[in-house]
Amino acid sequence: MALIIQKYGGTSVGNVEKIKNVACRVRSARQDGNDVIVVVSAMGEETDRLLDLARDITDQPDEKEQDVLISTGEQVSSSLLAMALKSLGVNARSLLGHQIKIQTDSAFGKARILKIDSKRLLRELKDGKVLVIAGFQGVDEKDNITTLGRGGSDTSAVAIAAALKADICEIYTDVEGIFTADPNICPDARKLNKISYEEMLEMASLGAKVLQTRSVQFAKKYQVPIHVRSTFKNGTGTIVTKEDQDMESVIVSGVTYDKDEAKITVTKVPDMPGIASKLFTPISEANIVVDMIIQNVSTDGLTDLTFTVPQADFKKAMELVMVTAREINARDVLADTNIAKVSIVGMGMRSHSGVASKVFTVLAREGINIMMISTSEIKISCVIESKYTELAVRVLHEAFGLGENKEL
Ligand code: ADP
Ligand code: ASP
Ligand code: MG
Repeated sequence: MALIIQKYGGTSVGNVEKIKNVACRVRSARQDGNDVIVVVSAMGEETDRLLDLARDITDQPDEKEQDVLISTGEQVSSSLLAMALKSLGVNARSLLGHQIKIQTDSAFGKARILKIDSKRLLRELKDGKVLVIAGFQGVDEKDNITTLGRGGSDTSAVAIAAALKADICEIYTDVEGIFTADPNICPDARKLNKISYEEMLEMASLGAKVLQTRSVQFAKKYQVPIHVRSTFKNGTGTIVTKEDQDMESVIVSGVTYDKDEAKITVTKVPDMPGIASKLFTPISEANIVVDMIIQNVSTDGLTDLTFTVPQADFKKAMELVMVTAREINARDVLADTNIAKVSIVGMGMRSHSGVASKVFTVLAREGINIMMISTSEIKISCVIESKYTELAVRVLHEAFGLGENKEL
């Protein structure tokens, strides 16, 4: 008997019919003789709807209260799925984050899981129940409700799989697996049979929202095998696992994009020790993650500093930067929210040269201007104007031979 964790995303539980369909899938995993824990997301666009309600009340909703609000989406779907299972004769019960003590820190809206009460879960499983756990939510040490950041149910599922040493964590979604690019914008995209934790980590953190980045970090750390697959079609999806020999031979395995960042430039900053720390310390203290940073060569002891932050934190970051910019006598603070980051990811880049120049040539041929560049051993990212995102993804995908009919 295996222990399987199954996570169903928003579209998979988007309405009552779909919830009933999920219940049938869960029942058949149970009938195959497995122990099953299900983790659910909120129905469809429910989290967006709740966030809009908060914004209708105030521009900057209280973060603690906002987490109380948006965690309700998963409470609804977990109870409905437990009901659907019971009506199919499956012994099931719903459980919320605080009931099983998914203990997190207090970073509201993007909390990190610290601990899970696995004994409680094992006890319930021993009673022969299918557990339906509300994803995306936890509780901090003062018993405040927290949420794990957008897409956080993936992380709930993988963290539970890690805590219970489950045999597999299945992520059911609206696509058939992990593709060489988002199949919804790149019709040529090809499904991968398997991908390494490292590559998936890069792809997720560079915008491939099919898995939340933290879920992949957990999976890598605790060696949890993940199977990303479709809720609506049968057949194997993509296995996320340890790197193996044949993965190395592929130079580029995927193209990703991220439209959720904004760019801030501080001009004419004094080029002297301590300035970068003055600018970035308040931002990091506000729990804002800075992604790319570029500093120009200085002329006359002055330089320009450009960096990117998540769109969600943009307003807060601007307020903080404005204060520091005045303190350090910078000339101006410029903002650009119409940007996108397009990236290529691949293990093989470690041992192949010429990949970066090919990216630049391909984008130049389409008249796409590159505003910022960053590279690591296994990725190259370019910030471009957001209106060119889809075009850039398609031409890079084509240029690196990732399409359906290509031999890799
Ligand atoms: P869920 O609600 O099931 O969590 P998400 O919307 O969070 O689903 O993630 C699935 C979506 O991820 C797909 O519909 C697809 O548009 C997007 N996506 C982006 N990049 C990729 C990729 N490389 N492979 C598969 N899906 C991708
Ligand atoms: N419902 C949450 C969201 O929309 C969590 C999730 O779907 O994973 O971000
Ligand atoms: Mg998701």
